[in-house]
Amino acid sequence: MPDSTSIRIRFPDGKEELFPIGTVVRDALARWDLAQLKNALAASWNGVPVDLASTLSSDGTLAPLTFEDRAGRDILQHSSAHLVAKGLVEVVPGARPTHGPPTDDGFYYDFDVRPLTPSDLDGVRAAMDRSVRAKEPFLRRELTRTQAEKLFAENPHKLRYISEVPEGESVSVYDTGDFSDLCRGPHVPTTEWLQGVHILGFSAIAPEDPTAPTLQRIRGVGFPTRGELDTYLKMRTEAEARDHRTVGAKLELFTFVDEAPGFPIWLPNGMIVVHELERFVREHLDAAGYVEVRTPLLFAQSVYETSGHWDHYRKDMFLTEAEGRTFGWKPMNCPGSMLIFRSRARSYRELPMRLAEFAPLHRFEASGTLHGLTRVREFVQDDAHIFVTEEQVESEIRTLLAWIERAFATFRLEWSCELSTRPAQFLGEAAVWDRAEATLERVLKSSGVKYRVSPGEGGFYAPKIDIHIRDSLGRPWQTGTIQLDYQMPLRFGLEYQGPDGQLHPPIVVHRTILGSWERFLGVLLEHVGGRLPPWLAPLQVRVLPVTDRHTPASLGLVEELRADHLRAEVTGTEESLAKRVRNAEVDRVPYVVVLGDKEVAEGTVALRVRGSRETRAFSRAEFLAHVSERVRKREFDP
Ligand SMILES: [Zn+2]
Ligand SMILES: [Zn+2]
Repeated sequence: MPDSTSIRIRFPDGKEELFPIGTVVRDALARWDLAQLKNALAASWNGVPVDLASTLSSDGTLAPLTFEDRAGRDILQHSSAHLVAKGLVEVVPGARPTHGPPTDDGFYYDFDVRPLTPSDLDGVRAAMDRSVRAKEPFLRRELTRTQAEKLFAENPHKLRYISEVPEGESVSVYDTGDFSDLCRGPHVPTTEWLQGVHILGFSAIAPEDPTAPTLQRIRGVGFPTRGELDTYLKMRTEAEARDHRTVGAKLELFTFVDEAPGFPIWLPNGMIVVHELERFVREHLDAAGYVEVRTPLLFAQSVYETSGHWDHYRKDMFLTEAEGRTFGWKPMNCPGSMLIFRSRARSYRELPMRLAEFAPLHRFEASGTLHGLTRVREFVQDDAHIFVTEEQVESEIRTLLAWIERAFATFRLEWSCELSTRPAQFLGEAAVWDRAEATLERVLKSSGVKYRVSPGEGGFYAPKIDIHIRDSLGRPWQTGTIQLDYQMPLRFGLEYQGPDGQLHPPIVVHRTILGSWERFLGVLLEHVGGRLPPWLAPLQVRVLPVTDRHTPASLGLVEELRADHLRAEVTGTEESLAKRVRNAEVDRVPYVVVLGDKEVAEGTVALRVRGSRETRAFSRAEFLAHVSERVRKREFDP
């Protein structure tokens, strides 16, 4: 019976129940679903995170927060930061905690303290273990400003935070054992939740204000269990071992020099891979009715003023002066394609007109953000601009989604889409944007593609579909994008003559699927740990003669392979066979075959299967057919 002493709580499954005023969150969740309470480290009350120990005094919606929820994850990271602070204060008396927020991949806590040493951290780890074993609760207290100022009288940083709390509001503090921290909360119920907390390292943090003290930052990451932490650390080690910068150097694919930061230098092996990727994409473009064009790398400022890049993108462009005019290195291929369309009168019979361009693009990325091949200043995209009528948009997008499916399946990459809609700053009319967004969503839905919507994340001239892939370590990456554009054709004054004899502006679909060769290859190298599928491998077959006696037969085999357009070489015999087999493994060669007396006599080869100790005997003809077919079909092996 609702009365003035009861409140109505609604749960995620839609169930509603009456509870007495002052009901504790934990008790409400327990009555709703005990199993769900077990996984909850906090709760969400009307969308705001709260402690399980907090009390409820009005009607509202209550949901458990687990480590799987972003908010729950942040709470566990921040609780981990408290645990570190508690440990450091124990180990280095007089250390003053400042602030310790969660981050995208863990947490940190900054301390006003003397420079730290590795042995300080050992002490902190031991103190953390003790606290976790003691299952200490996180207890919340509300203090008046005066009480709080007294409690933190020794810590000027906390006093400053207290002074920032609005007048009349109470100040909250969390106690864990004998450690108290000024904190808005919420927190996990006890330190038992922090079994998987790990300190990653520490560093000095130079303050922005030169009169402020240098702080010491301890970084870490937290998981509810030791097992989850171990899985994470293993994945981290694996990701480091697969770092494409290391793999790329080992395989001699590319390099960088200080004199051109962010500009990849492609080595012969790398060019083979890039050309194979290009060939893969071009085969599709030919079949799908694209034509290829090449437009200048530099355009005068006026072109970018027309395209809108000058207003919206200039700070990301490289500029250069010549004969008193300012030129910009093109950051995208769009302006060139617009000029091609405008170069003569166009008819509806020419649409869809699909212009592909593989030109180097330049973007000014800050030097601090550069990272191997995945963030560079010069790159080439599998880019195209498709000029269509409104009626052609749907079928064109549908065709693109089919290509995306086939392209990523070839690399064994999972993919999904993100539909980004009108941002705050946009060109054109809202009604046109709405129509474009509706079309994109309709195609995504009817194609059965996995997608989600990101409101306000579209480009300034068009809504877009971003393509996200997931690599073998479960990490997400953005690769390509499809943008539906009603604006740029208008800005460039593009027109075609329709069947009605009238002039109409075309719509442009900007699209890149793999993204740039650079970024895609960086991701792919980590996805496969350097073991490129045979069709992409710079060297596909290495033939190992057992002794000099077997060299002529080995050379003969290499000749046959090359005649079949396969990339093959034969090794010398200076090093032992075992050593040469190991080298081939390090070089990630897909097919390593050994030729000895038996093979030469029988006309066979002994194929070593990559990544295993197994060998398989093939006749020479069978081997050639096997390799040729795998390469031609662009299959992995195994
Ligand atoms: Zn806190
Ligand atoms: Zn474009």
